[in-house]
Amino acid sequence: MSAVWHPFTQHGLGEPIPTVVRAEGAALFTSDGRRVIDAISSWWVTTHGHREPRIMAAIADQAARMDQIIFAGWTHEPAEAVAAGLLRLMPDTLTRVFFSDSGSTSVEVALKMALGFWLNRGEPRHRILVLEHGYHGDTIGTMSVGARGAFNRAYEPLLFDVATIPFPAAGREQTTLDALETACREAPAALIVEPLVCGAGGMLVYPAWVLAEMRAICARYGVLFIADEVMTGWGRTGTLLACEQAGVVPDILCLSKGLTGGAVPLAVTMASEAIYQAHRSEDRARMFFHSSSYTANPIACAAAAANIAIWEEEPVLARIADLAARQAVRISALPGVRNVRTLGTIAAVDLGTEGADYMSALGPRLLAFFRERDLLLRPLGNVVYVMPPYCIGDDDLDAVYAAIGEAAAGLA
Ligand SMILES: *Cc1c(COP(=O)(O)O)cnc(C)c1O
Repeated sequence: MSAVWHPFTQHGLGEPIPTVVRAEGAALFTSDGRRVIDAISSWWVTTHGHREPRIMAAIADQAARMDQIIFAGWTHEPAEAVAAGLLRLMPDTLTRVFFSDSGSTSVEVALKMALGFWLNRGEPRHRILVLEHGYHGDTIGTMSVGARGAFNRAYEPLLFDVATIPFPAAGREQTTLDALETACREAPAALIVEPLVCGAGGMLVYPAWVLAEMRAICARYGVLFIADEVMTGWGRTGTLLACEQAGVVPDILCLSKGLTGGAVPLAVTMASEAIYQAHRSEDRARMFFHSSSYTANPIACAAAAANIAIWEEEPVLARIADLAARQAVRISALPGVRNVRTLGTIAAVDLGTEGADYMSALGPRLLAFFRERDLLLRPLGNVVYVMPPYCIGDDDLDAVYAAIGEAAAGLA
C-alpha cells in the first residue's frame, strides 16, 4: 500500500493510480507498458512537450554547477537571465520581476504587492475585486479570491471577503462592466482576473473587448489590475499572453505553469515601476515582506531561461496556430456536444444536458472512460476540454477527439 496522499483525489473511490515511468512529447509511459496521450499537458503546464531537449540540457548543465542558494540579498546568473528575458518578451511597463515557486504563490505575491502599494502611498486599501467563476490557486488567500464551492467549503470561515463581479456571459457583458464600475467607486485595492478564459471554472471564455473595458474601468478609477496568466500565459490562448488580444497591459502579471515549459516549478510576479517604487525606500519597514525557501531556484531559472530562448528563437507562435487550427476542425466536427468553444490551443465542450458543473456525477464516469482508452483527459465535471502540448501529432489528436465523440454519443 502506498502512503502517498494525492491532490484532488478521493482515495475512498479506489480508482487506479497509474505509475508513470517516462514522458516524451505528448505521451506518458506507464509501468504496466501503456502509452497514454497527455491531452491536458499534465494539468496545463507542459507547453512545448515533455522533455523538451533544450530545457532538459539547461537543467543538466545548471545542476552540474549550482543547486540552490539564498535569494534574499544574493543573485545568480540564471535568475538575471530570466528577468532580462521577461523584460524583452513582456509588456514594456512591467519593469520588475519577483520570483516564487508556484502559481498560487505568484498570486499571493500579487495581492500583497497591491496592498503594500496602497499602504506605502499612505492610502491603505484592502478590498479585492474578483470575477465570478475565477480560480487562482488553493492557498487560503487564493481561495479567497476564487470561486466558492464544494472544494473550499471547509475553509470558508477563514477566507477573506471580496467583491465578486458577475462573469461576462454572452449577452450579459454590460452587467459585468456596470458592476465593476460600481465596485470601483468604493476605492478597492485591485481587480484580479484570468484574462479571456476562466480555466478551472469550466473553460468559460469571454471576449477580448470585455477584458479591454474592464482594464479601462480600473484605470479610470485608479484600481490596480492584476492579470493571472498562470494558465493562459506562454501561448495557451494563441498569443504569448492572453492580455495581448485585448491590447491590455496589467499593473501586475502572474506567470507560472509554462514559464519553464512545464518542466520544473517556478513562478514570477511582474510589477509596474510604480508598484516597485512604492516599496523602495530607505525605510526597512517598507520593503516587500515575502520570500520562500526556493525563491528563484537556479535550476528552475535555467529551465525558464531555456524556455525564453525557445520563444525568442523558434517559431512557437506558428506551432500554436497550427495546433489551434488542427483542434478547431476536429472539435467542430463532434456530434452531440454543446457549447463548443476554442481559444488558441484550448478546446472545450459541455457533455450531457447540464450547464458547466464541477461536481456533476458525469465527471468520474468520464474520467474512467478516458482512462480505459489510455487518454489523460480530466473533465471539469461535465466539461471536457483538450489542452495538449504544442507538439502533439495528428494521430494522437484523432484518438482524443474520437474518444470524446464516443463519450458524447454514449450520453445521447
Ligand atoms: C493553476 C492555476 C493557479 C495555481 O497555480 P499552482 O501552480 O497550481 O499553485 C493559479 N491561477 C490560475 C489561473 C491557474 O490556472
